[in-house]
Amino acid sequence: MTRETVVVALGGNALIRADQTGTIAEQFANLKGPLRQLARLAEHYRLVVTHGNGPQVGNLLLQQECCAAVPPLPLEILVAQTQGQIGYMIESVLDEELARLGREEQLLASLISYVVVDPADPAFATPTKPIGPVYPAAEAARLPWPTVATGRGYRRVVASPRPVAIVEKREIATLVAAGFIVICCGGGGIPVIRQGRGFHGVDAVIDKDLASAALAVELGADRLVIATDVPGAALDFGAPGERYPATMTLAEAERHLAAGQFPPGSMGPKVEAASHVVRHGGHAVICHLDDIERALAGNAGTRLLP
Ligand code: ADP
Ligand code: MG
Repeated sequence: MTRETVVVALGGNALIRADQTGTIAEQFANLKGPLRQLARLAEHYRLVVTHGNGPQVGNLLLQQECCAAVPPLPLEILVAQTQGQIGYMIESVLDEELARLGREEQLLASLISYVVVDPADPAFATPTKPIGPVYPAAEAARLPWPTVATGRGYRRVVASPRPVAIVEKREIATLVAAGFIVICCGGGGIPVIRQGRGFHGVDAVIDKDLASAALAVELGADRLVIATDVPGAALDFGAPGERYPATMTLAEAERHLAAGQFPPGSMGPKVEAASHVVRHGGHAVICHLDDIERALAGNAGTRLLP
């Protein structure tokens, strides 16, 4: 019997926790918990691993502001850099965890991935995604890009268009079929638009959960696991009646989304991503990073139902 294919989307906390500065030592240490679980799961499932990159891209943006001697790099290049650095960290920690289990033979590969977006996506007209450092108002006014006021100050804001297609889909599918664990679509992928027979990168950021769902559907994966820093999709999050339902139907998810239970930029895209996979006949669960194995067994997280 063929093993099921599972796409696991690792949230930002798999690398940097809220109370940390985000040194590389911290990032390596944080990866151990989730990747130890994936190493065990690799015995039973074909795995594809995706991940966020928000703080890492933010740091690269900040670094380039500190050095005027080097020409600034566009966002597409910074996303590619984070796919390389995070792919390396995930691959090396996963390799170590597999070796601890005596599974040195398990094949691994990290891929630089682009994701096609639509130049007519309305997101380009109204950028919503804050990225990079925080600036005081006077400095923000002098920046060459649009900014948005946040709780802490002003930040650059970029479009967050929807993923349309995963460019390396066939490469990923081929590697998965050959038994590789594939690490890909980091940071939601490098956003590109089609131009003639080629692609060219754009200054935008794709939500990593939506990209992971698009990937899961394109691969015909059986399951999507969205692993984050909360136990699931809560109703009345942060309010006295807060609760984490074990299951949620597509209709319920839509109703709660419309009612503002799952905000854009955090839980909203996770519920949308999970819904997308279930609508296409797959399984999807949103869970804590510590609960990946339990969630796959149906014993943790919020599972989306048709
Ligand atoms: P990740 O880096 O894993 O993608 P995000 O910060 O984007 O994580 O999303 C997870 C966060 O969503 C939680 O830490 C929580 O603060 C926030 N959140 C907002 N609404 C909800 C909700 N209804 N249920 C659970 N978490 C929610
Ligand atoms: Mg997120």
